[in-house]
Amino acid sequence: MSEILSRRVFLKRVGLLPCAGLATAAAFGGKDALGQAAPADAGSATSNPTGESPIIDAHVHVWTHDPQFPFAPETKNPPARDATAEQLIALMKASGVYRTVIIQVIHYRWDNRYAASVLKRYPQYFRGVARVNPQDPAAPDHLSRLVEEDGFHGVRISPSGEASGDWINGPLMPPLWARCRDLKVPMTVLAPVTRMPDVMRLADQFPDLTIVIDHMADCPLNKPDELEKLLALQRFPNLFVKISHTWSLSAQAYPYLDSQRQVRRLYDAYGPKRLIAGTDWPLVEPYCTYTQAIDIARFRIDFLSTEDKRWICGLTAARVWPLLDGAS
Ligand SMILES: [Zn+2]
Repeated sequence: MSEILSRRVFLKRVGLLPCAGLATAAAFGGKDALGQAAPADAGSATSNPTGESPIIDAHVHVWTHDPQFPFAPETKNPPARDATAEQLIALMKASGVYRTVIIQVIHYRWDNRYAASVLKRYPQYFRGVARVNPQDPAAPDHLSRLVEEDGFHGVRISPSGEASGDWINGPLMPPLWARCRDLKVPMTVLAPVTRMPDVMRLADQFPDLTIVIDHMADCPLNKPDELEKLLALQRFPNLFVKISHTWSLSAQAYPYLDSQRQVRRLYDAYGPKRLIAGTDWPLVEPYCTYTQAIDIARFRIDFLSTEDKRWICGLTAARVWPLLDGAS
């Protein structure tokens, strides 16, 4: 796609060009997808009159080498490269991506200041998910400040599958989950699939809380029975699953069709309105380009209908984070 065309596509994405056909082609890629009829319930409060839907990438990271935003002391080998908001915006424009959700990167540990600065500078492009120290009794108050003052929309916790991650079953979790509920922001969980029973115990306590499971719980493809632990969470209507990491789970080359069997099982259990696409940029770049990563859910999953893609590539994320409320 030429730079001129991609810029036109992006401007249309943000409502600055009246060119529905071009933007629709950018959204779902073409004749095959567009040729499918949308199901009867296609109309939704978040779809616009032209029938097109914005592409939202629900999982990216940003960081920069800047003395103003030092990496955490625990980060012994920080990445050599930058992954700045400006780099990401350029990629978004080139790929027709409307907005992205920035997940606080681990290199900064609990210091969310760089992501907060990005949210303040570019509110028209980004939403943000913060990290707090889950073993700090003050974590709920830190989260309140991050949401109310810094503009984050939720928090991510990441218990390991080892004993060092057993804090997810400890006394500090219910207060943090309750604070998420009270703040009306989602709780995102990055954890191996073996932790899903622990998530279930907490989800049972907070039926009104929106919960997002990252990366299909990174369930290994050679352990398909383990996915049952994630499928069992289907009974929580406010629980969503990112279908990212097809690239890291796969043993194949792009477009990683072996991992799409797992996506299919999640699709059958959760449906498109509870599945979310995300790239995990820039971590995806050793595997494929940003545009290729966007295109996995947009073009490369054959069993998805045009309407399914509308949800998985954008509208579901817009249910979880406020992403379609106009460029603020
Ligand atoms: Zn990530």
